[in-house]
Amino acid sequence: MSYVVTAPCFGCKYTDCVIVCPCECFHEGEQMLYIDPDQCIDCDACRIECPVEAIFHEDEVPEKWREFIALNREMSVKTPSITEKQTPLV
Ligand code: SF4
Ligand code: SF4
Repeated sequence: MSYVVTAPCFGCKYTDCVIVCPCECFHEGEQMLYIDPDQCIDCDACRIECPVEAIFHEDEVPEKWREFIALNREMSVKTPSITEKQTPLV
């Protein structure tokens, strides 16, 4: 099981989520962040930090965003790890 970043993250990159993760799960794509499901320990810390509620437990991802479960797995191995908060893009 893992937590999953979904559509509301597009273009955000406040990255409040990143600094609370104890396992360095987050990876930075061009448009959004992804969680490496093999690193995530389901601690729930990131979900409550995200101001736009983009993060869900895998079992609670809304139906319309289910494809993000596979996308996080796929993209987290293709993108660099991010562990520090960044300045928002917008
Ligand atoms: S805080 Fe939320 S919207 Fe912002 S980068 Fe993290 S997951 Fe994405
Ligand atoms: S649930 Fe915990 S371990 Fe998983 S990505 Fe969020 S902060 Fe990291």
